[in-house]
Amino acid sequence: MALSTAEYRALDSAHFLHPFTDHKELHQKGSRIIERADGVYLFDSEGNRLLDAMAGLWCVNVGYGRKDLAAVAQKQMEQLPYYNSFFQTAHPPVIELSKLLSEVTPDHLNYVFLTNSGSESNDTVVRMVRHYWKSLGHPEKQTIISRKNAYHGSTMAGASLGGMSAMHAQGGLIPGVEHINQPYWYREGGDLSPEAFGKNIALELEHKIESLGEHKVAAFIAEPIQGAGGVIVPPETYWPTIKEICDRHQILLVADEVICGFGRTGQWFGSDYYDLKPDLMPIAKGLSSGYLPIGGVMVADHVSRVVIEEGGEFFHGMTYAGHPAACAVASANIRILRDEGIIENVREHTAPYLQKRWKELAEHPLVGEVRGLGFLGAMELVADKASGKQFDPGAGVGGICRDLSAQAGLVMRAVGDTMIISPPLIMTHEQIDELVTLAHQALDQTLTAIKKSH
Ligand SMILES: *Cc1c(COP(=O)(O)O)cnc(C)c1O
Repeated sequence: MALSTAEYRALDSAHFLHPFTDHKELHQKGSRIIERADGVYLFDSEGNRLLDAMAGLWCVNVGYGRKDLAAVAQKQMEQLPYYNSFFQTAHPPVIELSKLLSEVTPDHLNYVFLTNSGSESNDTVVRMVRHYWKSLGHPEKQTIISRKNAYHGSTMAGASLGGMSAMHAQGGLIPGVEHINQPYWYREGGDLSPEAFGKNIALELEHKIESLGEHKVAAFIAEPIQGAGGVIVPPETYWPTIKEICDRHQILLVADEVICGFGRTGQWFGSDYYDLKPDLMPIAKGLSSGYLPIGGVMVADHVSRVVIEEGGEFFHGMTYAGHPAACAVASANIRILRDEGIIENVREHTAPYLQKRWKELAEHPLVGEVRGLGFLGAMELVADKASGKQFDPGAGVGGICRDLSAQAGLVMRAVGDTMIISPPLIMTHEQIDELVTLAHQALDQTLTAIKKSH
């Protein structure tokens, strides 16, 4: 089907309900139709080339256009397009992927429960940690502590674990989830130093465990670095304090690595970067670089032992989990990351360069703070640089900057008035220069647009 952009837009508006979209607004503007991609570039139906600084949706870690991944999918689909693993069966791709994952994840994580997405992985976390404590004779240990402004997916359990109040307002929450504050120093740190603030916020976990009663708390879940909440890099004191609290209490630590995993921080996992030793580790996105849908939960040895030896049957699983083609592609993707030294290159070369260049944008009059780590970055657009005063949320300044940026040929995402990036891990020095030049241009144009509207 090769149609004109106008025809695509008309059909899109007539038949497709997009995720996380205000359809009334979209129908006025029309979708951008992406037709193909190569490396770090997207090409739309108007013939524009865009530098994709979001790696799709935080996921295309090895970049677009890997014909070897396409070939692996084709071969596997010809050989065995589908089989389940419910009834004491398995197939070579699911076994190979499970083994590879045990090798690249932290040493104490040797089992994986496979799913089709990050959301399903977090639903699995809820069911598994409750099942774990029940199997150990603690059926009352059910509550999971999470954080405000966290993102853990969009299914009922994922949205409930998440701390997005707009999502809670639309579908409600499942019982047994409690939220504490996030380590968001720039907006919530007040007069405290980042170090003092990070420690205080971490101590909220301890206070929450005490107020709920430790005998009722099953787990604490958090992203090593909050992604969708606005790339919130915690102060250095935060994770050591959280770890110490988790060690002192009988609760499981769940590191949601859906974004931080597979090289995003310059280490294989955010848990490696922060030395978290999580009990459970949900993964997705970079697991297949988005080439096919797949997710999973890595399980620590002491948890898998209970699930295997004491739990009896775990009544949980999805029809497509461990899909042969998705597993084969994920394994090939992991081998690309490993054998081509992509993560080392990020750690040693391109991430330090990206962070240096990205942080130069802090000098722009619109920018209140620039932060980042590895191949993640954020910059906060503010009405007053000195005080950090925010724009009126109704002015939609982040959205203006995002649209001007796309017009200039760069995909950034706006979370409110925070511009964020999460580029493909194969981005070169020259492409980083292009990213920063285009981002600077988008900031200038945003400033002009705001001045005009006043
Ligand atoms: C994207 C994301 C999820 C949800 O993954 P889906 O595949 O969209 O269901 C969960 N956790 C984090 C940290 C994410 O960024």
